[in-house]
Amino acid sequence: MPGEPVYLDHHATTRVDPRVLEAMAPFWSGQFGNPSSPHHAPARRAADAVAAARQQVSNLVGADPREVVFTSGATEANNLALLGVLRASPPGSHFVISAIEHASVLEPAQRLRREGFGLTVVPVDRCGRVDPQQVEAAITSGTVLVSVMTANNEIGTIQPIAEIGALCRRKGVLLHTDAVQAAACLPMPFAEWSVDLASFSGHKMYGPMGIGALFVRRRDPRIALQPLCFGGSQEQRRRPGTLPTPLIVGFGAACQIARESLGVEPQRIAALRDRLRERLCSRLDGLAMNGDPDHRLPGNLHVSFSGVDGDALLTALEDVAASSGAACSAGDHELSHVLRAIGLDETLARSSVRFGVGRFNTAEEIDRTAEIISSVVQKLRHAKGTGQ
Ligand SMILES: *Cc1c(COP(=O)(O)O)cnc(C)c1O
Repeated sequence: MPGEPVYLDHHATTRVDPRVLEAMAPFWSGQFGNPSSPHHAPARRAADAVAAARQQVSNLVGADPREVVFTSGATEANNLALLGVLRASPPGSHFVISAIEHASVLEPAQRLRREGFGLTVVPVDRCGRVDPQQVEAAITSGTVLVSVMTANNEIGTIQPIAEIGALCRRKGVLLHTDAVQAAACLPMPFAEWSVDLASFSGHKMYGPMGIGALFVRRRDPRIALQPLCFGGSQEQRRRPGTLPTPLIVGFGAACQIARESLGVEPQRIAALRDRLRERLCSRLDGLAMNGDPDHRLPGNLHVSFSGVDGDALLTALEDVAASSGAACSAGDHELSHVLRAIGLDETLARSSVRFGVGRFNTAEEIDRTAEIISSVVQKLRHAKGTGQ
């Protein structure tokens, strides 16, 4: 779009894919029945559309459609997973999370700790990776759940979920993973990975805002989950409330497109990301790349520009939409818990910017971005150097 900045903030949200919009269109006013009213044709059409979308969502991870619980997004799905499993477990039960989880895992975890449950937070290495052996060491006889995200929303690090899943299975502990950032770009065979619960968000994968899902394994083991809300029989009573048909249809379409694109899109996006890194490095000195060089989301580039304040850089970058951290915590000036957990020096942490390349970015946009950033960084460094 002319006049619009180059959008490189795909970890915060993604544009709705035009194919998703098209799939949703009939369900706002033409086919508007309540999918839970069984007795008339409009309701049945809505129910059929929800069933088809549920199938599309479950296909993404090789699950059974009955294992999908639709929620308002991943914040709710993460809350439902943690609060739901622990509150259905014996008082004082123990659980394990990683230090770089999203706030929607960290905060319910702290809440559960205050309710008397035992919590262990496992650290990550300098690349942001969790060591499965440390997860194993954290598990006690009272542990019921481990929650480790599939990929991080700030530095893009991908976790060894299959290994963590194998050890959880061996120890008889449930594994939950926040799969939000991985959903549109990594194959996620949940059966192979021994994942028991997983959270998804529509708007992080080219679907609409306000819809997400919690995947909950049906058997081996069967999972007791205390709901957060009461007052309806929808979603097996795990998440009562009228199902938002248009959002669910859009989320289903987004999952189907993600699945069909897995063979080509991640490579294309990674190539654009690498192009951005190379162009920045050829124009500027004093850059440090954060995160894991190998186990990394294809669209993620997290750079520290030494000698430059990240927020000042982002403010000066009118023609590039990027971010200095998680959208939900960027407002306060606390240092990101993720950058703290990887042991990044505070000055470098404050000079870092997260770029998130996505489906609709072009090579021309990447080249333009590299040029804009180089010139703004040089200007900021120069201004600082001359004491202005
Ligand atoms: C965005 C995000 C969430 C929250 O998802 P919403 O659907 O916006 O509530 C949770 N976890 C991660 C890793 C995210 O990036």
